[in-house]
Amino acid sequence: KVEAVESQTDVLIIGAGPAGLMAAYWMAVCGVKARIIDKRGTKVFTGQADGLRPRTLEIFDSMGFQHRVIHEGHVAVEANFWVPDEAGKLTRQGPHCSPKINESNHHNMLLNQGRIERFLIDTISKYSDLEVERGIIAESFEYDEKLEEDLDAYPITVKLRTLSDEEANPGHISKDGSGSQPANGQGRGSVLPDDWEELIQKSRLRQTKTEIVKAKFIIGCDGAHSWTRKQVNILLEGSSTEHIWGVIDVVPLSNFPDMRRLGTITHSSGTILVIPRERRLVRLYVPVQIVDSTSANRFDRSAITLEMIKSRVQAIMSPYTFDFQICDWWTAYQVGQRVAPAFNKGTRIFLAGDAVHTHSPKVGLGMNMSMQDGFNIGWKLAMVVVGAANPAILDTYNAERHPLAEMLLEFDRLWSGEFTETTDADGPAAPDKADRMVHVVEKYMDFADGLRTYYPASPLVWKVSEEEGPEAARNLIPGERFSPIKLRNQAEGNSKWTTRLLESDGCYRIIVLAGDVRVEEQKKRVEALGRFLSAEDKTMISPLHRYVPIPGRKDQIEVITIHSAPWKEVEFFDFPEIFRPFDPVMGWGYDDIWCDNSCTWDPHCGGQGYEKWGVDRTRGAMLVLRPDQYIGWVGELEEVKDMTDYLDGVLIKMPTPEV
Ligand code: FAD
Repeated sequence: KVEAVESQTDVLIIGAGPAGLMAAYWMAVCGVKARIIDKRGTKVFTGQADGLRPRTLEIFDSMGFQHRVIHEGHVAVEANFWVPDEAGKLTRQGPHCSPKINESNHHNMLLNQGRIERFLIDTISKYSDLEVERGIIAESFEYDEKLEEDLDAYPITVKLRTLSDEEANPGHISKDGSGSQPANGQGRGSVLPDDWEELIQKSRLRQTKTEIVKAKFIIGCDGAHSWTRKQVNILLEGSSTEHIWGVIDVVPLSNFPDMRRLGTITHSSGTILVIPRERRLVRLYVPVQIVDSTSANRFDRSAITLEMIKSRVQAIMSPYTFDFQICDWWTAYQVGQRVAPAFNKGTRIFLAGDAVHTHSPKVGLGMNMSMQDGFNIGWKLAMVVVGAANPAILDTYNAERHPLAEMLLEFDRLWSGEFTETTDADGPAAPDKADRMVHVVEKYMDFADGLRTYYPASPLVWKVSEEEGPEAARNLIPGERFSPIKLRNQAEGNSKWTTRLLESDGCYRIIVLAGDVRVEEQKKRVEALGRFLSAEDKTMISPLHRYVPIPGRKDQIEVITIHSAPWKEVEFFDFPEIFRPFDPVMGWGYDDIWCDNSCTWDPHCGGQGYEKWGVDRTRGAMLVLRPDQYIGWVGELEEVKDMTDYLDGVLIKMPTPEV
């Protein structure tokens, strides 16, 4: 029976993979009327992505679930490259560890994509009743461009159809996963108890119905074969690689010494990537076949079997042994390196994740990039929809994320090339193989780990230079993330990483690096800033209580103070009250004042933040952080007008009360 229903929503998210869930998180946090649909009957349980980069983990920390990743995941920071020596014997080169390993408080981790989706779904449910509507496919699309300028209008019309149980749960991995092929081994043994509900839902009876949804905005997070992208005629540009790869997640039985270490094994017939995972699983990426595109008999990917992949591993690893009893998941894939020329169509339609960039999984970045796309468009769109931010900020989504996708493809081409390059069939691998691999990794390390983002100048990013921050804070570069430090709380003595302190809760933050407030002149500067922020100085306008907050917040801006004096030599109450506001119910703002001091009981709390940020320990500095912890503006404590101008360009002022 077909029921036609009509409805309206402010934001419609198509696809509930990592990118869509990340965007949905912001809708939940900011109280946006939104929906998220996915044609699959359940989320992912096994397979697909597993690599998590430091910046992604910092984001998880700001969202409050990184402890779950630490609890379940596997840390892998050192890589070993095994290559044949002159006598042809496999020899370890390494270990190689990033020289920037401690730039972030989080290190590369491995954990199945399905678990990340679980954590995202659970986190969303803490903020709102926004739930993924599964087994629903988007099928038709209309866009009325004439309505684009009217923010109250619903220019997008999408027809949704509830799929039959069979259509929604075809019993294999979706074809959308970066070109992975369906129907391969997917072990149920790996479904953890908190994922069972998903499987139970899968068996519920579905009633086929169609629904016409009118939306103000749409975010297409619908994977490599994106339906949304096709609706707006954006074509991916790039090419397909000619190699077929096998990937297996197994519990290996092997005498290879580095079976539980990250690394590569190179043999004359190819290179395998070894990735240790949670629950004793190891993922292996294995070159299986070079496709001869000119041949009439093109190699059929579906002809690849688990046994074939296993034999290839055994051949490359020989004389070491390799076998397994448990295979959690496996697939064979052939990937294209492609990127969309634009990640948006006008101001109402946005695309994120694999929908706009596809590449090989060996760089371990697809899930990371996709989530970071969703994170980026998510906060901007959510704040625009609730009337808290200027719609012009939506233009920065493409400007910030598109160049990174280009960089991703560049990295992937070089890195994948190292795996597919062929050598003389009987000869040893190139002697400098390991060095070349290290060189490629190091060249793209900052980008891949997310330590640098290179967001360009825009209304959201006020830059003085591409390479360094303003004089007051040389290493705090607008457009980059706020580099993490562990701080000591002034009132409590507890220590906390800034990645946890600066929560992704939708507010803008003014970070007052108050310097050494024991110095009389510096104390006066801080007090003058306090007078300005508390609007005691009537000659100027304070940015506090000036802008429309997102629903549920009293103010759109929070002030966090980090001073550099020894904590014992200053008191919490020495700071102007505006820096530690009093709430009649919750008391003083003890969480708002921190010091960059070393902590005898916590070796990570080293009191070196000001040095890392390039800030004078006496004079301090001031910065504005966007809700995604990227630096928007930096200046001196006195540059209050400039800072307010920055905020005026981004946030919407509250209407002046009528007299
Ligand atoms: P997807 O995860 O593909 O989600 C898209 C969703 O949209 C799907 O759930 C789909 O059902 C839904 N959908 C599609 N069309 C419609 C429609 N018309 N209506 C409704 N719903 C629709 N990345 C890493 O970062 N690290 C790794 O180590 C890594 N390893 C990988 C290994 C393999 C073998 C593969 C295949 C991928 C790997 N990736 C890795 C890539 C990673 O899985 C993807 O980049 C990531 O899943 C992309 O997220 P996404 O949300 O953009 O898209």
